[in-house]
Order: sequence, then C-alpha cells, then structure tokens
Amino acid sequence: MPASSDQPVAVITGGTRGIGLAIAHRLAAEGYDLLISYRGDEAAADVAREQLGGTERRIEIMAADVADADSAGSLIEGAMQRLGRIDVLVNNAGITRDTLTMRMSEDDWDAVLSTNLKGSFLCAKAAIRPMVRQRSGRIVNLTSVVGLVGNAGQANYAAAKAGLIGLTKSLAKEVGSRGITVNAVAPGFISTRLTEVLPEDMKQTLLKNTPLGRFGSPEDVAGAVAFLVSPDAAFITGHVLTVDGGLFMA
Ligand code: NDP
Repeated sequence: MPASSDQPVAVITGGTRGIGLAIAHRLAAEGYDLLISYRGDEAAADVAREQLGGTERRIEIMAADVADADSAGSLIEGAMQRLGRIDVLVNNAGITRDTLTMRMSEDDWDAVLSTNLKGSFLCAKAAIRPMVRQRSGRIVNLTSVVGLVGNAGQANYAAAKAGLIGLTKSLAKEVGSRGITVNAVAPGFISTRLTEVLPEDMKQTLLKNTPLGRFGSPEDVAGAVAFLVSPDAAFITGHVLTVDGGLFMA
C-alpha cells in the first residue's frame, strides 16, 4: 500500500555525500521528505543517515545505480511507495574518469556518459510519469561549467555535462505545459571528494581566476537548487544557472 502524505517529496541521486548531501540538508530544512540514493559507499550512506536522521522529515536512503534502467526505475518507484509522491528530482549523481582523449579507454568514456548523462535521462523519464499525473514537478540536473567551456583531460565528463544541458532544455520544452520545470545548475570548482584529487597547481590556477577569491562549497550549490525548486522560480525553465564564483563568464 503506497504511503501518502501532503508533505512535499524530493528524490536526490548521489545524495549521501558532497553536493548531494548539502542539497539533502537544505531541502529537509525547507520541509521536504527525502529519498536519497547512492551507488555503493555504505560508510558515507551511514553518515548521511545519521546526520539526516536528526531532522523532523521522513528520510529514505537507497542503494541504486542510476546508470541501470531497472535501478533508476526502482528508485522512483521507491519514492512513490515509501513516501507517496514525488515533487522534486535532483539528478546529482556523477563521476569523473579524467585523462587525455588519446589515452582515454572506451570504458572511461562509457562509465562517465552512463552515470552522468544516461542516469539523469533514466531517472527523469521515470519521474515525469507521476509528475505529469500531478501536473506539477521540478527537475534539477547537476551539470558543470566544464559542459559549457570544455576542459582538457575531461572529454568524457564535458561531453556528458554538455549533453545534460541539451537534455534539460529538450525536456523543459516537452513537459512545460504539464506544470513541470526542468533546469540545470552548473557549478565551478566545489570542494568535495570529486575535486580533492586534482593537482595542487591546477587548484591554485582555478583559485586565481575566480573573482570571488575562494572555492565553492556544497552549500553554495544547494542554495541554487533550493531556489530553482522554490515558488520563486515558478516561471524559470530550461535555464542553466552557473554557480562558480565568476570563474567562467559568458
Ligand atoms: P561526490 O563524488 O562527492 O559524490 C557523488 C555522489 O554520487 C555519491 O553519493 C555517489 O555514491 C553518487 N554516485 C556516483 N555514481 C553513481 C551511480 N552510478 N548511481 C548512483 N549514485 C552514484 O561528487 P560531488 O558532490 O562533487 O558532485 C555532485 C555532482 O555535481 C556531480 O554530478 C558532479 O559532476 C557535479 N559537479 C561537481 C563539481 C565539483 O567541483 N565538485 C563541479 C561541477 C559539477 P557513492 O558514494 O556510493 O559512490
């Protein structure tokens, strides 16, 4: 028997650490019940469960590989069964496998495209069914400034993130008439496990070129996501919101 509640529900993929976890904290503070997914890091999932368990909200945490159609489908199904509805989908799960194109294996290409791009497509496809029935919904895709400007050593990641912008705009056109908005957030350099492996000289160059003079925090990105799912953003769709301290200006 599906749970039912008037409480708004958000699904956040890759929500057990980094930017996804900050989004989870922010949306829980704004009154959302949450279903959060991760791929395999149980230790991070336990920490997230403990932290978010202190909130008033219903929090479900589920292992599900977004790159797998059955898992992505069961994630959205899980939100409907356990929490009764789905108002917000944040496609945040992402990975990097950086190397120059001439050294990049087919596996490096496929893994990054599958998680970052296909995973977002699969979750969005499953989520828009209940959203269309409800005639409301918010989808936010985590792209990257790298998807806008490219980056040596990240052809797979940049292609996936650029593709995600195309997916965002196309889906926004498909579902706008059903009361669903689809937007993207494009972070610059944000301090998380994803970026801690970058060489120190690269980090210093990025810092020097950031007008606001600091790296971004996961909470900076969470604020942008919270805005895009809020009533204040009701007339915004197909937009890419850059959160990069001014690193890349069009
Ligand atoms: P982290 O590496 O810190 O966290 C990634 C999260 O995604 C983890 O919860 C991880 O789960 C999950 N995940 C990875 N692959 C899968 C999968 N196949 N299925 C389900 N979950 C998965 O990343 P960040 O917080 O730094 O990044 C979050 C998003 O923001 C990504 O899309 C990233 O590309 C984007 N971004 C980040 C930037 C940055 O500077 N950090 C800049 C621009 C964009 P598990 O722990 O189990 O592996």
